[in-house]
Amino acid sequence: MRRDATTMRKVLTLVLVATATTADETIPGVRLTRDDTDTTHTFADLWHDAGEQQDWVVETRRELHRTPELLFDEKQTAAKIAQVLTALQVNFTTGWAKNTKRAELAAKGFVSGEGGTGIVAQIGSGKEPCVLLRADIDGLPIHENVDSPWKSTEDGRMHACGHDGHTAMLLGAAAVLKRREAEIKGTIRLIWQPAEEGGAGGKRMVEEGVLSMEPKPQAAFGFHQWPFLPLGSIGGRPGPMLAATELFDIVVSGVGGHAAMPHHVKDPIVAAAHVVTALQAIAARETDPLSSAVVSVTMFHAGDAYNVIPQGARIGGTLRSLSTEGLQSLRDRVDAVVHATALAHRCNASIAWSADAYPPTMNDPELWKWATEIAAPASTENEVRVIDPTMGGEDFAFYAQEIPSVFLALGQGAKSFAPEPGLEFDTTVTVHNGRFVLHEDLLRRGVALHAHLALSYLDRAASP
Ligand SMILES: [Zn+2]
Ligand SMILES: [Zn+2]
Repeated sequence: MRRDATTMRKVLTLVLVATATTADETIPGVRLTRDDTDTTHTFADLWHDAGEQQDWVVETRRELHRTPELLFDEKQTAAKIAQVLTALQVNFTTGWAKNTKRAELAAKGFVSGEGGTGIVAQIGSGKEPCVLLRADIDGLPIHENVDSPWKSTEDGRMHACGHDGHTAMLLGAAAVLKRREAEIKGTIRLIWQPAEEGGAGGKRMVEEGVLSMEPKPQAAFGFHQWPFLPLGSIGGRPGPMLAATELFDIVVSGVGGHAAMPHHVKDPIVAAAHVVTALQAIAARETDPLSSAVVSVTMFHAGDAYNVIPQGARIGGTLRSLSTEGLQSLRDRVDAVVHATALAHRCNASIAWSADAYPPTMNDPELWKWATEIAAPASTENEVRVIDPTMGGEDFAFYAQEIPSVFLALGQGAKSFAPEPGLEFDTTVTVHNGRFVLHEDLLRRGVALHAHLALSYLDRAASP
């Protein structure tokens, strides 16, 4: 472990053992010991254990859902996670993922907090081998359009990507694993990471040493709820699963003037319009039709009067590719096309990229093969489906580019989810939508599968 100031601060904030309010029940209904002395941990064993945690995991998720917090501002969320871990007598450190790119995020239109809202817990021997489980904790700036007793109380903020569920299921896994601590052959590091939604919180965690501190994890696993797959199924793919993403802001600068005398100006609107058109050819005419590239212009702002040609025009959008090299070549081509097109229209252009482009989320092929065999009994289909990659981004990629990792999609799609009498929801609605609903039956599966993958991985790593 590095002995710099940050590390020392973390050591000092280490929470050792909390004083339990009752002998063996620190969260109502959750005991810290098991009656069962069986130390096998098949998926069925862990499914059983996860069932015992189900009620408070659901309740915790509902509590988190009521108070979503945005990028690097997840203070209440972090406090809740710390409270549960303390009750479970799990060792953890707080203060992870400082927001070192606040100004750059603001330049891209993101409102972000100061960070330090990440949490890292450890269960097991404290020695190698080590495996990492990751959950993301942030919500989105979206108005919730679902009426439920646990509807967001924060207008304009919503857990519309299910990170409340990810957070709760990893807390449930902490409870299951803590009760089996004696049978863990090494160390399980559990991390709750802020700012997945555009803030590269995962990158901050890696920079602060979550993968390099001792014991170093040899593998990482992460889950995302998936409304596009039926409830109970599990999916993923070896290699690229989610895209590398980049955001761009282009300013086309000309010379403004009277709209009636265009020969006295250098019109940035016409130049910018040609830029937008020229950008379309990069994906359509330059990219191998069998590979994947997205160049989407999503913003165009210029001018504010009928009779004035403005000085400049602004264009924004996003690039997507399934490889780091592919993303770089898109960047190179956007750069060349934008400058040359602006110049052809006697204007200049500048481009601002994002502070932290996301790499593609890559599932390590060898670990994938092993993990899908382990995860198969967790699926109602008794196998892990191979699904198509998506061009969405995911900052689990920052761990996956450092150590062998597997990211799995947990199917949650159902036309009817009735959590309580009188409530019925469709959980096939896509993420990042005000009508998105997390299917809570998913939580038990996530709890059990987190624990099953971690315990099985360490069994394998520890055996000669
Ligand atoms: Zn999302
Ligand atoms: Zn998400």
